[in-house]
Amino acid sequence: MQKNVSLLIIGGGPIGLACAIEAQKAGINYLILEKGCLVNSLYHYPVNMTFFSTSDKLEIGNVPFVSNNAKPVRNEALEYYRRVTDAYKLNIQLFEEVMSIEKNDDFFTVVS
Ligand SMILES: Cc1cc2nc3c(=O)[nH]c(=O)nc-3n(C[C@H](O)[C@H](O)[C@H](O)COP(=O)(O)OP(=O)(O)OC[C@H]3O[C@@H](n4cnc5c(N)ncnc54)[C@H](O)[C@@H]3O)c2cc1C
Repeated sequence: MQKNVSLLIIGGGPIGLACAIEAQKAGINYLILEKGCLVNSLYHYPVNMTFFSTSDKLEIGNVPFVSNNAKPVRNEALEYYRRVTDAYKLNIQLFEEVMSIEKNDDFFTVVS
């Protein structure tokens, strides 16, 4: 199926989600393609991993990240970024890997 978007964001990690929020605020037609689950890299962290950043440093889209401790753990981050994605109703396709990108004159052809 072919889709045309003004902005394609490859990867639904924290940065991809933050870009999507800003695109949405600016009224840009965007789509996130994520090869795995939401925040796939974080999902693959060790199960009991604690971030070295405090939760306020990990916030995106002005959504408060309240953690049980100053430094959140993996599960809290997974829940947080899911909550952000739901709150903004971000346009994201999960389990969709980008396989190739080709530059044409004034557009890119991306195969996933
Ligand atoms: C153990 C550990 C602890 C960490 N602790 C901290 C911390 O405390 N504070 C901090 O700021 N950072 C920490 N980091 C780094 C943290 O992972 C990054 O800051 C954060 O994930 C970067 O977000 P990102 O969206 O740029 O990249 P990522 O989270 O890596 O997101 C990239 C996404 O792109 C997807 N992707 C890749 N290739 C494709 C493709 N071809 N098609 C579609 N999707 C694709 C991936 O599946 C992934 O979901 C830690 C990292 C590790 C490993």
